[in-house]
Amino acid sequence: MQTENYLIRKPSLEKLFNNLIGSGKTIFAPKAKGKLALFDNVKAYGEITEDYIVTANSAKSVVFPRTEKLFSYHKSKEKTEITDAANSSFPEVILWGTRPCDAAAFIPLTDTFNGDYKDIIFNSRREKVLLLSFSCNKSDDYCFCTSVNSGPGNTSGSDVLFTKLPGGDYLAEVMTPKGQLLVRESIDLFEPKPEEDKDRNLAVVANRFNQKEIQAKLQNLFENPVWDDKSRACLGCGSCAYVCPVCSCFDIQDEAHGNKGTHLRCWDSCGFGLFTLHTSGHNPRETQSARWRQRILHKFLYIPNKSKIAGCVGCGRCSRSCPADINILETLTSL
Ligand code: SF4
Ligand code: SF4
Repeated sequence: MQTENYLIRKPSLEKLFNNLIGSGKTIFAPKAKGKLALFDNVKAYGEITEDYIVTANSAKSVVFPRTEKLFSYHKSKEKTEITDAANSSFPEVILWGTRPCDAAAFIPLTDTFNGDYKDIIFNSRREKVLLLSFSCNKSDDYCFCTSVNSGPGNTSGSDVLFTKLPGGDYLAEVMTPKGQLLVRESIDLFEPKPEEDKDRNLAVVANRFNQKEIQAKLQNLFENPVWDDKSRACLGCGSCAYVCPVCSCFDIQDEAHGNKGTHLRCWDSCGFGLFTLHTSGHNPRETQSARWRQRILHKFLYIPNKSKIAGCVGCGRCSRSCPADINILETLTSL
């Protein structure tokens, strides 16, 4: 679809939000919590904060919840009845205030859940999500989106991308039919596109490494002291995976009560020692350095080899949240 560009004035943006809430939509947006901004369910425009580089949590839980029922079962003497969550109707959700990196992350995340097996539950949730992103006008030393083919005004993955212009109004770039539908429904709030140059209103994020070069180097770096060096401080807490908008490891747990129970999908992390532990006691990734290596290889070698895109969008969340101050950008630039 050809991009459509409009101007939307600041008061009209609030009206757009109110129209969406008024029509019964569920909206997740950045909310201030202490010093952090977190994606959370919002009911009023005033609850949204604009003071964030990226939220501390990612928006992935909207399509890949932290814990999710896959099916429940009930056994009797005659039969076992299954109630499959794939038959459920999931709510329409609007993600308001995603950054371009957040929106771009939905591309590798969706790819993961559409490999050999097409995940019906994930896809049903994803179809119901509308991404209204806001370009970045500030960044910090943890950001490296421009090194992984994205950028502070990148439109990939967004249905509409808003860029704040001098004076507080916004350029609206409509990228998808879903975004077009949203604009058509509130067309009175949109005006002809402004002349202002978008790029002048974006944060500057320096290019820190060449992703293709990293991918080529990693082919031959399976055995290398760099992994030990970089992971020595790692506590295996899993925080980096939990905040990452692309990480998609999960575990399956059964919660059984007598003759009935629930089959659950729960977030997991390749940084956990138990993640690859076999029943025999053998663990093919026995050390924290082997787990750190897996994290980097998966994102910068295995996923790009398979899908031609990186498994990282350069949001920097993992480094900001790491209690041991391990910085993924430092690992990548040192490589
Ligand atoms: S957040 Fe830091 S300490 Fe925790 S698993 Fe990740 S790299 Fe290791
Ligand atoms: S690996 Fe780190 S920088 Fe890359 S997308 Fe995940 S949280 Fe963001």
